[in-house]
Amino acid sequence: MTTQELTNQYIANTYARFPVTFTRGEGSRLWDDTGKEYIDLGSGIAVNTLGLADSGWAETVAAQLRALAHSSNLYYTQPAAKLAQALCERSGMQNVFFSNSGAEANECMIKCARKYAADKWGENVRPVIVSLENSFHGRTLATLAATGQADFHHDFGPFPAGFAHARPNDIESLRRQLDEHDGQCCAILLELVQGEGGVVALEQAFVREAAKLAKERELLLLLDEVQTGNGRTGTLFAFEQYDIRPDLVSTAKGLAGGLPFGATLFGEAVSGTLGPGSHGSTFGGNPACAAGALYVLDQLNDSLLARVRESGAWLRAKLQAAPGVLGLTGLGLMLGIKTARPAKEIAAQCLAKGVVVLTAKDKVRLLPALNIPRDLLEEAIDILIACMDGQ
Ligand SMILES: *Cc1c(COP(=O)(O)O)cnc(C)c1O
Repeated sequence: MTTQELTNQYIANTYARFPVTFTRGEGSRLWDDTGKEYIDLGSGIAVNTLGLADSGWAETVAAQLRALAHSSNLYYTQPAAKLAQALCERSGMQNVFFSNSGAEANECMIKCARKYAADKWGENVRPVIVSLENSFHGRTLATLAATGQADFHHDFGPFPAGFAHARPNDIESLRRQLDEHDGQCCAILLELVQGEGGVVALEQAFVREAAKLAKERELLLLLDEVQTGNGRTGTLFAFEQYDIRPDLVSTAKGLAGGLPFGATLFGEAVSGTLGPGSHGSTFGGNPACAAGALYVLDQLNDSLLARVRESGAWLRAKLQAAPGVLGLTGLGLMLGIKTARPAKEIAAQCLAKGVVVLTAKDKVRLLPALNIPRDLLEEAIDILIACMDGQ
């Protein structure tokens, strides 16, 4: 049987897959099992931060695998310790909890907010977290409940209680939700650029007002930077561009450059909230993944971040004028394109022509590796433009 036949028979059918089997990658190039070459503008959904098979990253991870792949959190290991220090020093946060995915990083963030509220006001007094409509926070039951899209809210109930949703960029809607749950809220949860929701960046004024409301009402400010973190938007974290100080930040996707890894960052108010035994993860902070993440973080210096902003600006300028483009959204190298033709058809056609692009809602979504060479980007965009134009 072929890989695709085996997959369809033996892997649960939860994904709508394109009929392509990738076997190899190098930087922003991919090859499938027929030897066909592709330019990658998806990075495995914002995961392959430095592209594929980055030699320094692969060497670092391989060396750690040979030294110590795993030992559990009953003991200390150096890669996790150094990574935690680097993340805190660069984000201004106080300490970190490591996990393996975005959903888990958010789950930890939610638990921490609830525990903080329980410590301060008593158990179950202020459990409500207000997030936004059109957000996406993960596939566990709690993160699904936090997700503000009705499509996700059936068949798997009952969901954990204590979540409400306000309209994005509508401060009155947020105020209304907080008023409706007056005396019951512990936190506001924001995804600064709603990725799965169509690559929609929240407005500066809305985010600042939301942060102000959080302060006035003694609510924690939680940011889901699972997709926007790790340089994706042109700063290490997107919150740096919004002039706010979050209490908790989650990240995952691009953090370890291709390995499963998540982190929840704690600010001053909550740095001591989760004590021994209150939370845990067998694989969390795994040395091999942490070594990969530390390597990625070292590469995410000012010059690479400047390059992200430049590549993003170049993309916008190029696409703005292109036929078949109705609008552009997003931040840095996280770009949504509203197209005249259906996005899914464009993505399939691009793939056939050797360019990997993603979709989000009704948009074409681009999440290239942060170090994608300009000539490759230009070559891929010319093909994308031809597809959007119906050629
Ligand atoms: C992808 C994503 C998640 C879920 O991450 P997983 O690693 O798939 O669990 C959560 N929040 C946001 C904003 C995401 O983009």
